[in-house]
Amino acid sequence: MQKQMKQIEYGYWWNCAACGEENAYGLTEAEAEVYIREWEENNADEVAEGETGYGVCDWNYNVIAEENDEHIEEGECCWKCGAVATAETRTDRAKFLDALIDNATQKS
Ligand SMILES: [Zn+2]
Repeated sequence: MQKQMKQIEYGYWWNCAACGEENAYGLTEAEAEVYIREWEENNADEVAEGETGYGVCDWNYNVIAEENDEHIEEGECCWKCGAVATAETRTDRAKFLDALIDNATQKS
């Protein structure tokens, strides 16, 4: 099988610091289906209140994951060259949000 970037349905992209290749962090469509189903099975209370596994999956992987640089936290490896994600691979969005927080902290 030819190596290729993970085909994600939920998540974000980051660039390898070693080779520059684009990498994906997140869930494929099949993984998301399992995640959503299991979350709903384990969180009947929240489902009763109108929360959906889809909403949680969307929030966790399309919003929170990138803000937290989860590919770095989890030590993801580049699909092409195998290099482990370092702090240099932070996404622009994560850096931007961090700068906003720093600003807010300095002003208060
Ligand atoms: Zn690489």
